[in-house]
Amino acid sequence: MTQASENATNNGSNIFSQLATFDHEQMVFCNDNATGLRAIICIHNTVLGPGLGGTRFYNYASEQDAIIDVQRLARGMSFKSSIAGLNLGGAKAVIMGDPSKLKSEAFFRKFGRFIENLNGKYITAEDVGTTTKDMEYIKMETDNVVGLPEIKGGGGDPSPVTAYGVYMGMKASAKETWGSDSLSGKRVSVQGIGKVGEHLVEHLTKEGAKVYIADVNQEALARVSKTYNAEVVAKDAIYGLDVDIFAPCAMGAILNTENIQQLKAAIICGAANNQLADEVLHGKLISNNNINYAPDFLVNSGGIINVYSELTGYNRQIAYAQAENIYNQTLEIYKKAKEDKITTHHAALQIAEKRIHDYAKVKSTY
Ligand code: NAD
Repeated sequence: MTQASENATNNGSNIFSQLATFDHEQMVFCNDNATGLRAIICIHNTVLGPGLGGTRFYNYASEQDAIIDVQRLARGMSFKSSIAGLNLGGAKAVIMGDPSKLKSEAFFRKFGRFIENLNGKYITAEDVGTTTKDMEYIKMETDNVVGLPEIKGGGGDPSPVTAYGVYMGMKASAKETWGSDSLSGKRVSVQGIGKVGEHLVEHLTKEGAKVYIADVNQEALARVSKTYNAEVVAKDAIYGLDVDIFAPCAMGAILNTENIQQLKAAIICGAANNQLADEVLHGKLISNNNINYAPDFLVNSGGIINVYSELTGYNRQIAYAQAENIYNQTLEIYKKAKEDKITTHHAALQIAEKRIHDYAKVKSTY
């Protein structure tokens, strides 16, 4: 056996053991030499419905990085849709390469045909590195795509609904922590004032909170600070800031052993996906430090609620009403975590897993 074929065998057996670890159903590798498309679609679980999850376009350092990322993201989508009460499973796609060099109509239409071949088992949407325009090209080849512009019958940008859900989760967290859900006079730091962060800042300032913002984009900082009278803080100073609430709305895996110790906030509640660098270790550390953590995949589920609404005929009012329910769900999570003496992240996971497990029993009858 040559070294190359041995590596191929090892990688192949690795992939199956990786899929088995978290019970992923299917992974599809899509290659097209003509357009340079190299994509992986990963379907974690389709018990509740077709797997829905966006397409991330990113220049991964290695194929293994892309494989790990797509599996992790697909699994996260299963729990997010489940806890949001949607009839959707979890899936995700990643496209490898430099978006600025590879994007074209043919590229996304080819990808659309790969999605179409899955007969509705996977529905795609926008994610990091992809836009509504890219979704429009995919739509030319398959109906299994959401996140289209409003003018094309879609729901448009889901970020306002996501931000509203985070705001609801934050108010519920305030109720749990201080007995009142009013955020008036509370000091809130928002890390990342992008599409979601800015809408969140708007809700907070309207309610009379004192808002601090950090971002790597100086232009956005100047604009948002001027519009909402928010105070700008240095990127790394945000963790040690003397605030009541910390809202991570930038990138994932940002809560780690070092910066959790610096936090003075009583609540962590933000939009970023997969905030805990290590779900178990950092979930416990946050709880031991008496910080109320609103689970990310619950409070940021407004985005998936919004795109799901496209499948049933888009209605923004219904999407907002569903996102409002994040308030009650967040309170339930705090109650369960206390009763069962587990972290809030673990409590949310248990609820999401139970719904999938319970529905599997219903599905078994034709
Ligand atoms: P975005 O790209 O519009 O905004 C992210 C912001 O974070 C940008 O302004 C960026 O400059 C800033 N940023 C990057 N690195 C930073 C750093 N080190 N410190 C401070 N700021 C930094 O993204 P978005 O759509 O607002 O999403 C924000 C987060 O919420 C992401 O993690 C995303 O996955 C998650 N999320 C978004 C939605 C949605 O509807 N858009 C839904 C669910 C989850």
